[in-house]
Amino acid sequence: MASVKESLWDPIAGFGVTFRTMFRGVFTEEYPFEKKPTAPRFHGRHQLNRWPDGLEKCIGCELCAWACPADAIYVEGANNGEGEQFSPGERYGRVYQINYLRCILCGLCIEACPTRALTMTNEYELADRSRESLIYEKKDLLAPLLPGMEEPPHAMQPGTTDKDYYRGNIIPLTAVDGGGDK
Ligand code: SF4
Ligand code: SF4
Repeated sequence: MASVKESLWDPIAGFGVTFRTMFRGVFTEEYPFEKKPTAPRFHGRHQLNRWPDGLEKCIGCELCAWACPADAIYVEGANNGEGEQFSPGERYGRVYQINYLRCILCGLCIEACPTRALTMTNEYELADRSRESLIYEKKDLLAPLLPGMEEPPHAMQPGTTDKDYYRGNIIPLTAVDGGGDK
């Protein structure tokens, strides 16, 4: 048998919630017609970054793949050629894939990356209609070439080693003597 509280007070309390809600502002977001900017540190689609001369920061070490709790990243590393570098140093990421059907956008992979090659953008519109289109390849993830960058493979800047890159002592090619408009 219901107590007095259950039979009298509980319905009144329940309708109280209903009445309070009737006079609240509307929270409906008109997405996709009105898009609100995300928080600055929002975790969206990934990006594979470049050094100022266009070489790729990814060294194919697979640490991001090992850190991923959803097994969403696949990396295959390969050796750079002499003077035909994709990244400074010995190795580069030959194959790089992120499966956005698995990714939970947690950010553990970007924490694991030793060269800051992998970061996350604010882009969140990742829905699509096929499995294939949600597996992003390296070409989909690489940052665009900015002025002063040259598409790899190419040599490291004259007189530099991979350590100069990791220390941030690299300038865009347009600022190098004779760099011209590469
Ligand atoms: S954001 Fe998280 S789930 Fe997505 S690829 Fe990185 S580690 Fe994996
Ligand atoms: S993105 Fe970073 S952690 Fe992942 S393979 Fe490239 S260098 Fe290694």
